[in-house]
Amino acid sequence: MTFSELGLRDEVLKSITDLGFEAPTPIQQEAIPYLLKSESDFVGLAQTGTGKTAAFGLPLVNNVQSGTRLPQGLVICPTRELCLQISKDLENYSKYDRDTQVVAVYGGTDIRRQMTQVKSATIIVATPGRLVDLINRKAIVLQEVQCVVLDEADEMLNMGFKEDIDMILRQTPEEKNVWLFSATMPKEVAEIAKNYMTNPLEVSIGHKNQGNQNIDHIYYSVKEKDRYAALKRLIDVNPDIFGLVFCRTRHETQSVAEKLSKDGYNAEPLHGDLSQAQRDNVMKRFRERTLQLLVATDVAARGIDVDDITHVIHYQLPDDIENYTHRSGRTARAGKKGESLVLINTREGYKIRSIEKQIRTDFTVGKIPTAQEICGLQLTSLIGKIKDTEVKEKEIEKFLPAIFADFEDFSKEEVIKKFISVEFNRFIDYYGKAGDISTDGGRDSRDRDSRDSRDSRDSRDRDSRGDRGERRERSDRNDEGKTRFFVSIGKRDGLNPGGLLRMICDEAGLTSSHIGKIDVLPTFSFFEADDVHTTKILSTVNGANYEGNQVNVEVTKKKAEPRRSSGGGFGGERRSSGGFGGERKPFGDRERKPFGDRERGGERSSFGGNRGGDRGGFSGGRSSAGGGSRPRRDSYGSK
Ligand code: AMP
Repeated sequence: MTFSELGLRDEVLKSITDLGFEAPTPIQQEAIPYLLKSESDFVGLAQTGTGKTAAFGLPLVNNVQSGTRLPQGLVICPTRELCLQISKDLENYSKYDRDTQVVAVYGGTDIRRQMTQVKSATIIVATPGRLVDLINRKAIVLQEVQCVVLDEADEMLNMGFKEDIDMILRQTPEEKNVWLFSATMPKEVAEIAKNYMTNPLEVSIGHKNQGNQNIDHIYYSVKEKDRYAALKRLIDVNPDIFGLVFCRTRHETQSVAEKLSKDGYNAEPLHGDLSQAQRDNVMKRFRERTLQLLVATDVAARGIDVDDITHVIHYQLPDDIENYTHRSGRTARAGKKGESLVLINTREGYKIRSIEKQIRTDFTVGKIPTAQEICGLQLTSLIGKIKDTEVKEKEIEKFLPAIFADFEDFSKEEVIKKFISVEFNRFIDYYGKAGDISTDGGRDSRDRDSRDSRDSRDSRDRDSRGDRGERRERSDRNDEGKTRFFVSIGKRDGLNPGGLLRMICDEAGLTSSHIGKIDVLPTFSFFEADDVHTTKILSTVNGANYEGNQVNVEVTKKKAEPRRSSGGGFGGERRSSGGFGGERKPFGDRERKPFGDRERGGERSSFGGNRGGDRGGFSGGRSSAGGGSRPRRDSYGSK
């Protein structure tokens, strides 16, 4: 099938030719003819890398032809990265449509400029929090919107954007098309489809939760003490790697990136402690491929859409195995091949089993290459590169007589040896000294491992089912085993649910599956998290910095109570006595009283000794976790 058979306008077809797309991908073949119809609600179950952006972007651009200056197309997506990527793609698709104006709307950047830009937009690509902000400021009118695209709907709901999405959709006309794309179909996503769509066409590319078939999944079992050395070998054995290394926490991310950089690798970290400008800079270099290795946390790497990543390396597996699919999906995009390499210690074999079940694909057992293998491979690669190097005759002409004179006394063999040694000595020096890393490899040993730990694996499997179950149940407010936390900042400090979730996950090294309900209120907020992470949260999130505000976190009461199904909302739940030292008033009263003027030191006493400027009550926990005062960070507010 060719693009010209799909029914797109000539201008759009021309832009496709410019992009070099030859034939539509399967999701494009299914979606585009249908979405070109005037009435079309659509659910696309597709991973990133399948060509889904063009699957909705081409018909969107095709259909939105100006006539009015109000936006007619609206794309909502979870992260700033994705927002920029989609708007760039839409600009490419509409480059021959002079009247089409694509404007990206996302947090963490000057809102006033965006308020001006949206005035001329015909298509808006937005993250939910910032779009709600613009709506509240009456800077944007969505009454002419004919088509709303919800991209990565599962991610948006994971990040706590459900209420924002509902609010946005209420601003759009009753008569419109809604196109929803999601990698997975949890209950909450199905509910959105039910509430906002009429008989949508549902197209699924691959199994709902199945990963990309072009990825080879390989795991390496090593002793914990050898983890970093093993990482280096995996990099060294792939001289042309363009890779993403995942760590679990910001601290680990920073430390691994620093170590790699010190050891001579072209690596940079990406995590929530960096300012937005620093993150943009790192991403720009990675995109341009002047940076070879990006070391990232799960949260910071959300929405990274960079083509041609050859390897995803899991320095540590994510706590939530669903994140494994998100991570590994960064490679093998657009039909290319990729490898997902996992480092586990000898006790983590059961995690591989769980992931295999989840992605319905078997892992291969890898063996960490020996020093000799790596040296041989690097040498071959180096020789290949030297042979392929273009000689810029003209530019070096004038230096050659002196160079030849310098080498007069050397034989051809000696010259070759010298040139190779310039690069290769680094490997000899390192690997000459390095002992070999024993790999606890082989399916046998894993079977042994899994037999030995059958009980723990079974219970872990149950746990992970529980995890997913709980994620699905989140909207049912099944809060068993959750602790509720108070957070000292709220909407007025620029906080939104996504920003809060990002901060918690990033600071505490958790994933969204560990977090329950999030309530961001005008001057303070609440969130729920699994009981087991309470200490971690108090020692890491508490004291963090959100857009210049120090954040205090406190447990409100031991357990989050099951929410009442009938009405009541906050009032019902919070009337019970609680953790702020004293009986709680109904919510409406409390909202401003104890915390409303929380700048005044006296009020702080209610947070358990966290008085005025003295953060002692909490900093104890922080300093034990290596904290202390932190640099200002602007990143969580952005999406
Ligand atoms: P996506 O799934 O939208 O993130 O797209 C993944 C990559 O595939 C992007 O780099 C697109 O530019 C590219 N792509 C999308 N459609 C096609 C196509 N029909 N032919 C070739 N490349 C494509």
